[in-house]
Amino acid sequence: MPTETPLLSTRAVEARYGRMQVLWGVDIDIQPGETILLLGANGAGKTTFLKTLVGLLPASAGVISFAGEDIAHLRADKRMRRGIAYMSELGVFPDLTIEENIRIGAQALSTRAARDKAEDMYALFPVLKEKRSGLASSLSGGQRKMLGIAKALAADPRLLVMDEPSAGLSPLFVGEVVRTLGALRGRGLAMLIAEQNIGFLGIATRVYVLEGGRIGFSGTVAAMEGDEALRKAYFGLK
Ligand code: ATP
Repeated sequence: MPTETPLLSTRAVEARYGRMQVLWGVDIDIQPGETILLLGANGAGKTTFLKTLVGLLPASAGVISFAGEDIAHLRADKRMRRGIAYMSELGVFPDLTIEENIRIGAQALSTRAARDKAEDMYALFPVLKEKRSGLASSLSGGQRKMLGIAKALAADPRLLVMDEPSAGLSPLFVGEVVRTLGALRGRGLAMLIAEQNIGFLGIATRVYVLEGGRIGFSGTVAAMEGDEALRKAYFGLK
């Protein structure tokens, strides 16, 4: 059976900070529309891997393809224009208004398309519309994550890459972020979510686990639950 070309695939990706190698031979595939959870403990290399994907850090070796094109040597802005949006752990510019943040997300679009895109985002997140002239710093933690998601979506991406969207949020807000991302599935948008919080498992099509800069597991959520070591590590079960 012919397999679909992955939207994103990495092969043998390595990354380093100076002489310290952090990623070792990372292979992942993301099909169009998939929601992939990248789990890993503190320091496992999740942020480093996301940065190499979006072009904020050069891969020291390996191949990164997006829609069949080798993008490993493209600058971050070029990768964004190809359809990869990145939401960092901070996610927004706190000293800018909500509207300005969304417009920055849409900067690759024409002025008119950016205006339309902002309206789309307000329809998706009405709470942001009410506060559009306020500073991002005036939003609650959960609302800031919504703005971060809106800012990233404003670029009209095919792949939304997110670094720990649960960071700094109370469990109640984490649930809200999970529901928001869950509602975005099925619109042809692929998502890669780096997390330590297993609350995101419910919306994942597949899971990769990074351990010491290497992929230690890849498979479905059911397969992960069937793995004794992962069960102990992530679910605290014997
Ligand atoms: P966390 O959940 O804590 O963000 P992570 O899985 O995202 O962890 P990374 O931030 O990618 O992990 O860090 C991987 C390793 O690289 C760690 O050992 C970290 O100390 C190191 N590291 C990260 N950023 C730098 C940097 N700018 N310079 C040097 N070493 C770094």
